[in-house]
Order: sequence, then C-alpha cells, then structure tokens
Amino acid sequence: RFITLEGGEGVGKSTNVAFVETWLQERGIEVVRTREPGGTPRAEAIRGLLLDPSFDEPLHSDAELLLMFAARAQHLAQKIVPALERGAWVICDRFTDATFAYQGGGRGIETARIAQLEQFVQKGLSPDLTLLLDMSPEAAKERLEGRLRDQQTQRDRFEQEQIAFFEAVRRAYLERAAAAPQRFAIIDAGRALDHVQASLAQALEERVAL
Ligand code: C5P
Repeated sequence: RFITLEGGEGVGKSTNVAFVETWLQERGIEVVRTREPGGTPRAEAIRGLLLDPSFDEPLHSDAELLLMFAARAQHLAQKIVPALERGAWVICDRFTDATFAYQGGGRGIETARIAQLEQFVQKGLSPDLTLLLDMSPEAAKERLEGRLRDQQTQRDRFEQEQIAFFEAVRRAYLERAAAAPQRFAIIDAGRALDHVQASLAQALEERVAL
C-alpha cells in the first residue's frame, strides 16, 4: 500500500510522517519512509537543483514541473515500485498532489498539463490513501516562526513568496481532496499535536485494511 502525506509549509509534516511510520511499524508492517522531491540519490540531486537559491536566473515554471516529474520517475523506479512489489508499505512525504498544489495552484500551470505528465510518469499508479494536513498559511507561518527558528530555508521561502501563493496552494489541495474523497483524509493541522495524531490514527484505522 502507498500512503502519502501532504500539506503546505509549517503544517507539521515531518513530525507526522514519523508518527505514521511508527504507527504502522507497531502493527508489524514493513514500512519504507521516503519523501519528494527526492527519495533516491539522483532524485535528491534534482531536489538540490530545484531548491538551490544561488542561481541569478528564475526557474521557469515548466522547468520546475518537469524536474519534479523527472525526480518522481527516478524515485518510482528505484524505490517506490520495488518496495510495493515486495509487499512493503510506502509512506511518502509529498507526492503528485503537491505538484498539482504548488506548480498548479501556486504557479498557475494548467491542471490538464500536469495530468498529462502524471499519466506519462505514473501510468495509473496513485496513492491508496492521502493524509492532507490542512491549516491556514497565516497560522502555519506563525507556528514556523515560533517553533522552528533553525529551519532557515522554510522561513526564507515564506519571506520570498507571498501568503497569497500559499493560499492558492491550500485551495488546490482542498479542491483535489474534494474531487477524490475516497482517497483523501483531511486532517485539521491547526490543533494541538495530540489531536492531530489522534485524527491521523483514526484515518489509518478507518481507511486501510491492515
Ligand atoms: O516538503 P518540503 O518542505 O521538504 O519541501 C521542500 C520545498 O519544496 C518546500 O519549500 C516546498 O514548498 C517546495 N515544493 C514545491 N513543489 C512541490 C514540492 C515541494 O515547490 N511539488
């Protein structure tokens, strides 16, 4: 089975992906935890290229989109598909819903063009369950500033991009969730961590046959 965790910046994805991994392991399941963009050495190199702030030219949105899918093709071939084929569960921090949210909603690339690449690269493979950590970008920003003073990259990104960008990302995520309610569980990530994790556990219990 293939589970993905999604959400904007500062919603607590890293903490909660670890929670989901442990929850599954405690039930005797072999778990491969991974992330996008990245997950294998070459895909992580593409991530480095995507996030490198040192170039003095902007990254064209189509180039960004293609690099996301290039990293994904490598990640699928080298890690995700082999793990699923041997019966392991894969828990991935971001996947294609992030591309629809960031490159689609955020950068304004038409959904149909992203869907073409999705079909080209994934050939029908999609997550069995997507846990969407949802909260307002304003609240997430405050949380990041308050708790994660060491995560300079994320703070920089908040400063560079307008809150409007993250509002658009959030809207795109929620639209995707509304269009595929059987795959998505929307988790209110604005609450205290123990409440968020209780909701995650409930979604896992209800949605995945162990
Ligand atoms: O999830 P994580 O924080 O590791 O993502 C690293 C950065 O990549 C974030 O700033 C995120 O906004 C960005 N990203 C993106 N488009 C994606 C996935 C991630 O812009 N499809």
